[in-house]
Amino acid sequence: MTNEGTVQRRDTKQKQIVLETVREHRDHPSADSIYFDVREKDARISRGTVYRNLKNLCDEREIIQIKVPGTDRYDLRTDYHYHFICLNCSAVTDIPCEYEENIDAEAQEKTGNLIYRHRTVFEGLCPRCRKLKEENNEK
Ligand SMILES: [Zn+2]
Ligand SMILES: [Zn+2]
Repeated sequence: MTNEGTVQRRDTKQKQIVLETVREHRDHPSADSIYFDVREKDARISRGTVYRNLKNLCDEREIIQIKVPGTDRYDLRTDYHYHFICLNCSAVTDIPCEYEENIDAEAQEKTGNLIYRHRTVFEGLCPRCRKLKEENNEK
């Protein structure tokens, strides 16, 4: 067994752990929360390794990175869809509205830009934070 072979196997295994961990999350995890969960499984994996594997998984379209205000999150759903971020607790969830392809076409027509896609992030309060706020207002 060559040393190179061992390194390669270890790389593959680390990537597998990172992907597994993203899969276990149903809530658009941040890189840091993935890192903390990965560390539970293998304490030898460094933050750099987790970040590098996340980037590779994005390049391979296994997962996608979503940009939301203040943080980057990861998502297993690679089809175009919209997101919501709670401004109180930073929870990120999917919005079950259909992706509006006609906006892309319209924007392209009006500007002459070649439009690939658009990203939409709705902002507000999640049901839990909304309820807390309403309860506080009643006091
Ligand atoms: Zn919330
Ligand atoms: Zn999503």
